[in-house]
Amino acid sequence: CIRIEHVNKIFGKKQVLYDITLDIPSSKIIGILGPSGSGKTTLVKIIAGIDEPTDGDVYVLDEKMPKLSIMNKIGYMAQADALYGELTAIENLNFFASMYNLPREKKKQRINNVLGLVNLTDFSKTQVKHFSGGMKRRLSLAIALVHEPPILILDEPTVGIDPILRKSIWEELRRICESGTTIIVTTHVMDELEKCDMLGMIREGKLIAVGSPEDLKVRSSTSSIEEAFLYYG
Ligand code: ATP
Repeated sequence: CIRIEHVNKIFGKKQVLYDITLDIPSSKIIGILGPSGSGKTTLVKIIAGIDEPTDGDVYVLDEKMPKLSIMNKIGYMAQADALYGELTAIENLNFFASMYNLPREKKKQRINNVLGLVNLTDFSKTQVKHFSGGMKRRLSLAIALVHEPPILILDEPTVGIDPILRKSIWEELRRICESGTTIIVTTHVMDELEKCDMLGMIREGKLIAVGSPEDLKVRSSTSSIEEAFLYYG
C-alpha cells in the first residue's frame, strides 16, 4: 500500500531522517513511535505528500509522491489544528469536505456521522474559537475522516482527549481499518501502541525496529513496548 525507500530529510544543516525504508501493508493500523523530536511528524508529512524527502522515494497506492490525485485519497490530521476559529464546527467540516467533491447528500450524511463519532453533535453550531483543546482535536479527527479516505494519517490524534472518548475513537479506527482503510498513527500512549498491528520505532531519525507489538517484545525478550524500545534503541 505504501512504500518508503531510502528516505533522507535534511532541514538546512540538520538531518532529521536517515535512510528510512519501510513497507506499510494495506488495511492495517501502523503506529509510529519515538521520543519528541525524533522525526515522526516529518515522516508522516512526507508520506502524506505535504513535505518532500531530500532524497529517497515514497510510493502510495503505487504512485510516486507527491501526487495530487493520491493526496486526495489521504486523510491527514496534523498535530497543530488547522481549523477556522470564526467558523462553527459544521462550517469547518463543510469547508474541508468541499475539497473532496462529495455529493451533497453524502456530504451531509458523512458530516453528521463524524460529528457523532467525536461527540460534537451538540456543538456543531458553536464557533470553533470557543472550543477547548480536546474539542479541537476531536474536530480535526472528524475532518480527517469525513471523506472516508483509503489512507488515514493521524499525528498524535488523542492528545488532550479523555480516556473514555479515546477508547471509542480507537474502536472506530479499528472498525474503519477492518473496512479496508490503512491507518498510520503517531502516538506516545503505550496502550494505544498495543492496539496497532505493526509498529515502527524511530530514534534520532533512524528506524530502529519494525514489527507487530508482540514480535517486538518477543524479539527483545521484554514485556512492554517501552522496554522493547529501550532495547532496540
Ligand atoms: P514530537 O513528538 O515532539 O512532535 P517528532 O518526532 O514528530 O516530535 P519532528 O516534528 O518530525 O519530530 O521534528 C524532528 C526534528 O526536525 C526536530 O529537531 C525539529 O526541530 C526539526 N524540524 C522539523 N520541521 C522543521 C523545519 N520545517 N525546519 C527545520 N527543522 C525542522
